[in-house]
Amino acid sequence: MSTPLLLLDDTELAGVVGPPAFRVRQVKRWLYEVAETDPRAMTDLPTTLREHLSTIGVSALETAEKRLGDGGMTVKWLHTSAGAEIETVLMRYPRRTTVCVSSQAGCAMRCPFCATGQGGFARQLAAGEIIEQVLVAARWLRDEAGGEDGDAPRSPTRIGNVVFMGMGEPLANYTAVVGAVQRLRSDCGIGARHITVSTIGIPDRIRTLANDAPPVTLAWSLHAPHDDLRDRLVPPNRRWPVADVRSALHDWRSAGGRRITIEYALIDGINDMPELALRVASIARDLEAHVNCIPLNPTGGTAYRPSPHGRIRAFVSALREAGANATLRQNRGAGIDAACGQLRARHGLEHRTR
Ligand code: SAH
Repeated sequence: MSTPLLLLDDTELAGVVGPPAFRVRQVKRWLYEVAETDPRAMTDLPTTLREHLSTIGVSALETAEKRLGDGGMTVKWLHTSAGAEIETVLMRYPRRTTVCVSSQAGCAMRCPFCATGQGGFARQLAAGEIIEQVLVAARWLRDEAGGEDGDAPRSPTRIGNVVFMGMGEPLANYTAVVGAVQRLRSDCGIGARHITVSTIGIPDRIRTLANDAPPVTLAWSLHAPHDDLRDRLVPPNRRWPVADVRSALHDWRSAGGRRITIEYALIDGINDMPELALRVASIARDLEAHVNCIPLNPTGGTAYRPSPHGRIRAFVSALREAGANATLRQNRGAGIDAACGQLRARHGLEHRTR
């Protein structure tokens, strides 16, 4: 079986397409800008080439399931690709459209409040499998969202932002993620400042990312400002403690990296005490980072619960009073198991990845 076109790098694609050189550009325009999956529709290519490409095939991903939530403003896909199950979420807002992509099938980080973490690691994704998640969402927006209710679309029909906040730890699949970021920029026209890589914080990788993709936004999943608590909530903290990640994030900023976001999921009675807000605020001020608080999304099988509203408001106020820049993020997709930390839920994936 031949490798689908979306999994080929430029050299491999040139080998398949053949001369003249401009043909590769034409094919790439169809694949990445138009998000076309049928080579027979690539009308400016010679018929023989179209036939040749369609015997090879474009897609790596096959959509197993698609669910709409929040009145059509959130869409979740379950894709399969060479034995792996991959989830992607599209979040539509009045003025922007964001795709949340998976960087790995499963995750090895084992954060106990996250469904993906509890399911374990299946395999790395290739850059093409990451990019195709964006292309599927782009195609859905173009084909399905444009004519909704016969009115003007309720959100932009072009993908504005890509966030690596689906399944997996992006910096643990470094080469594929950097490759995907570079191709999203060069081939899909998504600016690096509209791409966010979210990580538990792997110091060496943060430092190399500052060279390889400095204009992306980096989000650090802090969730606890002290090592003893963070060791429990984000187990890789035992290897890469808070101080080591902070030092790498300083280097990121010095190397010209963009402003950092700190992610903080508020968990009832665990990490939502006002004194912790003061510590988080001091870390945020020191890094000139923005703190994004989000109420925990409950996932099956854990005792962790979201903090009550009052405590969430108090935590965010304490952050602000201590001089940190902080916002409270709204949950999306809870009704379709598409909220943060819920990916992989309810597909019986436990059985396949354990
Ligand atoms: N591995 C990367 C990307 C994963 S998901 C990382 O850890 O950053 C993106 C964010 O969702 C992370 O901040 C993660 O900690 C958070 N998250 C995971 N499960 C969650 C849950 N149940 N509720 C709220 N946020 C959650």
